Amino acid sequence: MTATIIDGKTIAAELRGKITADVARVTQAHGHVPGIAVVLVGEDPASSVYVRTKAKAVAEAGMRAFDYKLPATTSEADLLALIAKLNADDNVNGILVQLPLPPQIDAHKIIFAIDAAKDVDGFHPINVGRLASGLPALVPCTPLGCLRLVKSVHSTLAGMEAVVVGRSNTVGKPVTQLLLKENATVTVTHSKTRDLPAVCRRADLLIVAIGKPELVRADWIKPGATVIDVGINRVTGDDGKPRIVGDVAFEEAVQVAGAITPVPGGVGPMTIACLLLNTLRAGCVQKGILGPKI
Ligand code: NAD
Repeated sequence: MTATIIDGKTIAAELRGKITADVARVTQAHGHVPGIAVVLVGEDPASSVYVRTKAKAVAEAGMRAFDYKLPATTSEADLLALIAKLNADDNVNGILVQLPLPPQIDAHKIIFAIDAAKDVDGFHPINVGRLASGLPALVPCTPLGCLRLVKSVHSTLAGMEAVVVGRSNTVGKPVTQLLLKENATVTVTHSKTRDLPAVCRRADLLIVAIGKPELVRADWIKPGATVIDVGINRVTGDDGKPRIVGDVAFEEAVQVAGAITPVPGGVGPMTIACLLLNTLRAGCVQKGILGPKI
């Protein structure tokens, strides 16, 4: 038996359709077009692709995109000055500074400078703390997307044995908080975890975010488990051509899992959809408008 494929592309398209409709509601009824500022410093090729994809999705949802492409030599002071300007701009509801930043800029300082109400990446310590305290918060987009994918196959996560592989601030830690909020029993693992395959085999729900191509093998997966693969790894295929693979060996995992996300076409499209949702929500809060029920 092979696993159900969790089709992130289709689920994200549905979500984006709902967001577009709600953006129209906010624009028509309240005369405000939600807007996001996307700031890219330098020419990192992967970051440039992400930024272009985000700008396209923002426009398709009927939102405003304010794009800032700054040279790699930009000083920390100049970037902080731009953040201050965007914080004060009423047309900008969300601010996203694409990471990584060049070495002369302290990313923590920049994240800290963003108005927490406009922090659509959910990386500001105020939002991190609010999420950990169970308060309403802007939550990082990839973990939000993961949760929506899990919920597409499970009506409740209460009591579920979940294992998260990876403890990054962007994925592992926030997804852990979201799972706790859903009453799952969560184990967080990382590069120093002893006998990782054995810990993974306990999981009814396995969420993997490590950036190691196809590290998780079929025999790490409990038969019937739901597997969410966050990894995006560029590798060279047997045919010598570049291809993208996840952190899970999909071809073998699909034989054991109950449900699994593909790479590409799983978590990736959800991240962008959730960025749009965060921007719309942030805009509604800032303008005192009833938020979307999505
Ligand atoms: P990161 O490098 O910040 O963190 C990696 C984590 O994995 C660390 O906590 C580390 O302890 C753990 N780890 C590393 N090697 C390990 C090993 N051998 N065994 C167990 N744990 C190990 O990475 P990140 O930002 O969380 O990203 C992880 C992956 O997810 C990357 O491939 C990244 O490209 C991808 N990603 C995808 C999206 C998306 O939209 N789909 C978004 C963010 C990240």
